[in-house]
Amino acid sequence: AELPADLDETNEIRQVSKAVFSFVNPTPPSNPKLIHASEEVADLVGISKDEIQSESFLNVFSGKEVLAGTRPYAMCYAGHQFGNWAGQLGDGRAINLTEVEHNNSFFTLQLKGAGKTPYSRTADGLAVLRSSVREYLCAEAMHHLGVPTTRSLSLMLSGDQVLRDILYNGNPAYEKGAVVCRVAPSFIRFGSFEMLTARNELKNLKEFVEYNIKYYFPEIQGEPKEQYLQFFKTVADKTREMILHWQRVGFVHGVMNTDNMSVHGITIDYGPYGWLENYDPNWTPNTTDSQNRRYRFGNQPQIAQWNLYQLANALYPLINEAEPLEKILESFITDFDSDYKTMFLSKLGLFTSTEADDALIEGLETVLQLSETDMTIFFRNLSQIKKADSIEKAIEKIEYAFYTPAEISGSILDSWKKWFAVYLQRLQAEHPSDQERSEKMNTINPKYVLRNYMSQLAIDAADQDDYTLIDELYLLLQKPYDEQPEYEKWFAKRPDWARSKVGCSM
Ligand code: AMP
Ligand code: MG
Ligand code: MG
Repeated sequence: AELPADLDETNEIRQVSKAVFSFVNPTPPSNPKLIHASEEVADLVGISKDEIQSESFLNVFSGKEVLAGTRPYAMCYAGHQFGNWAGQLGDGRAINLTEVEHNNSFFTLQLKGAGKTPYSRTADGLAVLRSSVREYLCAEAMHHLGVPTTRSLSLMLSGDQVLRDILYNGNPAYEKGAVVCRVAPSFIRFGSFEMLTARNELKNLKEFVEYNIKYYFPEIQGEPKEQYLQFFKTVADKTREMILHWQRVGFVHGVMNTDNMSVHGITIDYGPYGWLENYDPNWTPNTTDSQNRRYRFGNQPQIAQWNLYQLANALYPLINEAEPLEKILESFITDFDSDYKTMFLSKLGLFTSTEADDALIEGLETVLQLSETDMTIFFRNLSQIKKADSIEKAIEKIEYAFYTPAEISGSILDSWKKWFAVYLQRLQAEHPSDQERSEKMNTINPKYVLRNYMSQLAIDAADQDDYTLIDELYLLLQKPYDEQPEYEKWFAKRPDWARSKVGCSM
């Protein structure tokens, strides 16, 4: 598209109108050092194994050097944060280096933590090692779990100190700065569209939507209005699939603001995310949301719909008809509910569904919460149950998932027995053999997820310049569904010291 005549290329913090991005170069880090790079993601975008070790890789993906022929930019977007309109936000600490076309796919390569942009508002544009390790590892873990997500190309130390906290004694607490390069088809968010509509820049809105369709959803064809509706439907479908995966693996995003919702239906912006350990739909990893719990695990589908509603509002001026948009929004939840049932049953090893299964699912969701029960361990070990097992034998097979085994007595034990009685009966009515069912379940219920305490251990070691744990977790989480006897220690409940440890966004 043609650049607007008043395009401002200065790098001061400001409101930016009539544009969806601003050119800006990364701030060169003082002493970059490569901590980890993904050979798999490098390969995806056309970078060889040898190139990863080059000076040029270090310089480009730390932000020290701008690759010849490229022109980095930060994107302008707005958004709803915690349910409130927040106005212009934009990439305050993310800079898109360039776009790559490789093997007929488009990729945007983006640095996070490479310095201020016009959208940094009052913040420093930097990222600390802690949040960068969490983002770097989690995105790759999610990908290998089969969850749509941004990918991680590289994790670097910047060599600079970043101020995040003032200690109680008034002293500044500096942390190591880091830069992650992440990769996605694009980093366009729901908020990108909301901003144009809020500013009544309808010509740009139209051009921007058409750009999205042309480059990322070329299968969408037809009359313009029909295309815009199809575009919305496609985003809704992809978002639904993403959330379904989140619920399947127990991922809680933590900040589902509309500026953190990708138009591609991929998980973006790993901030205070977390993994359910004890199954608790009310849990959120975000301490700033501990009152309302808007972004709690069990609320993610409803929030996704709420966010899509904001996107629908943003697209409305191009469509001028509420009804077709409303229909898509309504079917989002009905489709979600039916997909959720199928997904949940598949976690139980049930691949047909009956009316009575609603009660089976609800029953399990209740009993799982009577006493803290580890979600990942419970579902993984459930695959060991055999049709011929007694109720007692079945409970024995999953009891490793209980955080406080002593609580599994009296009425709680009775509830478990009742649930397993129904479940075992249901299994007996199923055609597949124990072996077949178990194998299938183990491709749906991961053995290893990136528990919060695991990241924390990797971060603590990395802070002492020891990156072996980052390497180990990266390898472990490339095969989250495989038995990996050498890593059996990671198939474990959250240790007690990690109970109150939550994610941190900054
Ligand atoms: P988040 O909640 O992480 O999605 O961030 C919300 C907004 O704040 C986005 O526009 C970010 O780019 C911006 N932001 C977050 N952290 C920083 C930072 N350290 N420097 C500049 N902008 C930031
Ligand atoms: Mg964000
Ligand atoms: Mg963030």
